[in-house]
Amino acid sequence: MTYGGAVMHPMVKPALRRGWRDLNTVQFGMTPAHAMTLGPMDLATGSFLDLLNGTRGLELLREEGRRMNLPDGHVDGIVERLARAGLLDDARGGGPGADALRQKKEVLDRLRPDLASLSLTTSEPGDAMRQLAVRRSQRVQVRGAGRVGAVVASLLSGAGVGEVDVRDGGRVEPWDVAPGGLPAEAVGDRRDESARRAVRRAAPDRPPRRAAAQASQASQEEGDPGFALVIIAPRDDVAVHAPDPSAAEPLMSSGTPHLYAGVVEGTGVVGPLVLPGDTGCAGCLHESRTDRDPTWPRLVAQWRSGRQRQVRPCDLTLSTTVAGLAAAHALAFLDGRVPTSAGARWEVSVPGLHWHARPVWAHPACPCGAAERGKGEHPSEDGESHETMAVQRPSAQCRKASAKRPAGTWRAHV
Ligand SMILES: [Zn+2]
Repeated sequence: MTYGGAVMHPMVKPALRRGWRDLNTVQFGMTPAHAMTLGPMDLATGSFLDLLNGTRGLELLREEGRRMNLPDGHVDGIVERLARAGLLDDARGGGPGADALRQKKEVLDRLRPDLASLSLTTSEPGDAMRQLAVRRSQRVQVRGAGRVGAVVASLLSGAGVGEVDVRDGGRVEPWDVAPGGLPAEAVGDRRDESARRAVRRAAPDRPPRRAAAQASQASQEEGDPGFALVIIAPRDDVAVHAPDPSAAEPLMSSGTPHLYAGVVEGTGVVGPLVLPGDTGCAGCLHESRTDRDPTWPRLVAQWRSGRQRQVRPCDLTLSTTVAGLAAAHALAFLDGRVPTSAGARWEVSVPGLHWHARPVWAHPACPCGAAERGKGEHPSEDGESHETMAVQRPSAQCRKASAKRPAGTWRAHV
């Protein structure tokens, strides 16, 4: 028995609803994204699945199997099969971080739906809990604490990211207030402090002290910001539409992944997620736009220099949508995946609210070097016509990510 050894307490992932497609085939899960079928399976084995609920170790399960007259080795076979199909979790797995988290029942209760969701995107028993524990040790910075940024920061904190730092200047204006972000009581207070308070309020727990101390020590030693991810969520609409490459230079040179998000006029934007040197960055975006429209730099210069004293448009539901999607992409990345915002900007405009991805190709004239590295992958002159390719490429990465789950007779076909 290769999975987990004696201490393992196998559990069929409770996140997936179960149903019999026929007398021999069980379907785990309802939705096409994560459902699988497992067969052939006889009814005795099927009822044995109910015992795989995390309360019994393998020894006890073998005993139960004998009592149910299942043939020798059958129990281990089932457990192994389920584990290989990515359908099995381990109620005691995930390592020391997971064990520590299990001790904090109230914290874990807050995160249970998130944990269940993680069990759908991880394959090995115990991985979901391990990943949730890893989140607690991660450091993220959000730049910009308006309607989008403050909500992104709170969401990440609420989802279990251990340290969420927020940077912004000035004081909270009445129009910064948003549910889940800066509260009305904060109007007039310092924006960064208020956003950090919102982050603390949203957190299921205080950040683990030891991890935070280690992280700040590491960042001092290396002279590195030490953030796993920086989210750039400007309140300024020009900065959302035309992100300034020079503002991201320190992030590029330190190799810090960063994600753009914001609202400009009636359009919400999530992306690109920049993996420096690997995927298209703000500089690449600027170069590509200039290729397509020679007047682009002239327009950007005017937008940037124009003094704008009026409150900029930012539909509250749009900003919340953008914040939610940006936080989801950020989490996917922190959890070790490559979300579809790498090399693309997801955009949605009121009132149609149709999401679509615009590619952000690595550009050869950009000093980031991503074009050099990705040479031959996607020679492109006209970004507009490549929307479908942009969708295909990240989804190819998703397939790669989920390919850990071995294909076989149990592949989903729902
Ligand atoms: Zn670039």
